Amino acid sequence: MSTTADLVVGVLALQGDVREHLQALAACGVAARPVRRPTELDDVDALVIPGGESTTMSKLAVDTGVLEPIRSRIKAGMPGYGSCAGMIMLATEILDGRPDQQSFEGIEMAVRRNAFGRQVDSFEAPVTIAGVPGEPFHAVFIRAPWVERVGDAVQVLGTVADGPGAGRIVAVRQGNLLATAFHPELTGDLRVHRLFVEIARAAR
Ligand code: GLN
Repeated sequence: MSTTADLVVGVLALQGDVREHLQALAACGVAARPVRRPTELDDVDALVIPGGESTTMSKLAVDTGVLEPIRSRIKAGMPGYGSCAGMIMLATEILDGRPDQQSFEGIEMAVRRNAFGRQVDSFEAPVTIAGVPGEPFHAVFIRAPWVERVGDAVQVLGTVADGPGAGRIVAVRQGNLLATAFHPELTGDLRVHRLFVEIARAAR
């Protein structure tokens, strides 16, 4: 029997595609619950930051008082996974952000918002991800960011193989933190969520 049910993974539920991440995590066999307040953060072992709109998420994180508690949990080693807007929220540096935009400052990287250009609102492309077995991931990008620079501690896990932005960094890991510029929660392919659950389990 699996012993993962005692792992509780939160999904930051201020804005964005929260439900899809909750479903993907449940399908991976862990307890998944939304996190909106600092007290709810205390009850989770790991946190997913969904896709959505990072400027709105930043503002709501400040208003609800979860910004600083999440920053300190992340600093203390809490596993985190961000997709798209969630990747932006994990970056130490945001390019083309709003001047007052905040982040959780977890992964040493500069992430450019809406990087693939206005004419490519959304696209799909294969991405080979280190640590994810099997065929290349069918990645869905929606007004996606890319990673422009990474610090020494950051492991590049995947780049776009084809199409607009070929060669750009779109999946990274630093310690217990994982981020993708695309949305695995929208495709039913659980391999990225499984990788994150493995990271979270190992961190316990
Ligand atoms: N462009 C959005 C942002 O800046 C991200 C888009 C997404 O999460 N699909 O937050």
